[in-house]
Amino acid sequence: MTSLDPRAPLVLDTRELGRRPGSQRELTRTVPAPADLGIEVLSVPEGSPVELDLRLEAVMEGVLVTGSARVELEGECVRCLDAIEDEAEVTFQELFVYDDTRSAADAEEDDEVSMLEGDLLDLEPLLRDAVVLALPFQPMCEDDCPGLCPECGVRRKDEPDHTHEEPIDPRWAGLTALQQDPSSSNNSNE
Ligand SMILES: [Zn+2]
Ligand SMILES: [Zn+2]
Repeated sequence: MTSLDPRAPLVLDTRELGRRPGSQRELTRTVPAPADLGIEVLSVPEGSPVELDLRLEAVMEGVLVTGSARVELEGECVRCLDAIEDEAEVTFQELFVYDDTRSAADAEEDDEVSMLEGDLLDLEPLLRDAVVLALPFQPMCEDDCPGLCPECGVRRKDEPDHTHEEPIDPRWAGLTALQQDPSSSNNSNE
């Protein structure tokens, strides 16, 4: 187990709670975003401000963390490849179990359980999961982005009236000519 750095921006010190169930502490802080936060097509720029709004609450088994994070997002529209700049607010809740109690021995077997390290807890995995869960798998620059023209690649959002001449199927070209000539309209039905 790697040991946590108490000065790391996403490491929280719970000592103030004194392990007294019911004691709690509100905490707001702005931290720089860690690298690779998000998904390939949409992510939080490394170092951009992450505004955390947290409540730490001591319970019997550990510390319950409830909170939200406001993050900036940068990515690319999956339909038109336009750059996306957005922001999101994600919420999370997690129980961090004390690492020196009897339940911790069971918890250690289970990767799903978050644990404190002494009085410290690492918020980063929780933040990562919350951000990834909140992001759309197919980010778009706007609702129902019309994407690119399949014929010429122009961004249809920029040119909503964009059309190409409907190519005339050569098999019908002759018939169209006949229909436009009233004198030969009888022949077109044969
Ligand atoms: Zn788009
Ligand atoms: Zn086109």
